[in-house]
Amino acid sequence: MEQVTLYNGVKMPIIGYGVYQVSKEECERCVMDALAVGYRSIDTAQSYFNEEQVGSAIVKSGVPRENIFLTTKVWLEHYGYDAARKSVLESMRKLRTDYLDLVLLHQPFSDYYEAYRALEDLYNEGKLRAIGVSNFYSDRLVDIASFSRIKPMVNQVETHPFNQQVEAKKWMDKYGIQIEAWAPFGEGRGGLFENSALVEIAQKHKKTTAQVILRWHIQRGVVVIPKSTHKERMQENLNIFDFALDQADMNLISELDKKQSSFFSHSDPAMVEWFVQMVEERKGK
Ligand code: NDP
Repeated sequence: MEQVTLYNGVKMPIIGYGVYQVSKEECERCVMDALAVGYRSIDTAQSYFNEEQVGSAIVKSGVPRENIFLTTKVWLEHYGYDAARKSVLESMRKLRTDYLDLVLLHQPFSDYYEAYRALEDLYNEGKLRAIGVSNFYSDRLVDIASFSRIKPMVNQVETHPFNQQVEAKKWMDKYGIQIEAWAPFGEGRGGLFENSALVEIAQKHKKTTAQVILRWHIQRGVVVIPKSTHKERMQENLNIFDFALDQADMNLISELDKKQSSFFSHSDPAMVEWFVQMVEERKGK
């Protein structure tokens, strides 16, 4: 399994398995399938409400914990120092582990500085092997990289052929922060799997468009965490190390960039209000 090396020396598999929108009912089976076909990196989050299922799958799989790179993310309602610290320890309990490989702040809103201080302390205590952020657009990223004690090691952002994050990646590279793609397939939105340029490249290499997309990511040095609930697709998505895209393929794919989200913009104030409302609603539960 190819790995990237974070700036603190920690190695992270370049491909992992993501469990967003994997239901509680299916999650344990999916993570066991993913580990069985060879994934050694799992990406979950407090807000996916499936950390317990991920934890039990890891235990049941028999794969030694130290062979798995395990990531979770702190959700907004747990921001602030004390709440963030408590929530990470609770995530560890649910994930049945006494350390985590990577913990990210999920969104750049609310009291994320104090939450980040809690991650820095947990890192210094040896409970977290790496820390980072998610959805931090370049302005927020440069800010936290400059005013934190420990620069984020990873920034997980929406990245796929229709939203390639070329400029954002330059800023991450400048600060030595590893880019990790969420929705590496853009969830297939906008006909990505059927895109004619990708289909042509896939036929040339006798691969699927999904494999071409993932290969394109890793050749750019982008960590990917594709999600599928189907074991054969998990396998397909991992089977990307026996071919390489040439410069012409890479150039064709770079032309697909629409330079905009297939989902929503984290800079849109109406979206920020949507997050605020979600936090309020969850407080009431
Ligand atoms: P992806 O881009 O990974 O797309 C998932 C979709 O693609 C599913 O519908 C899946 O269907 C389908 N798919 C997977 N493999 C194939 C294949 N080989 N051929 C055809 N279709 C395929 O989207 P996600 O949103 O799930 O992103 C991946 C991960 O990124 C998440 O699980 C999560 O861990 C992380 N994430 C983080 C976010 C953040 O804010 N930090 C936001 C969103 C995601 P099926 O399951 O039916 O196979």
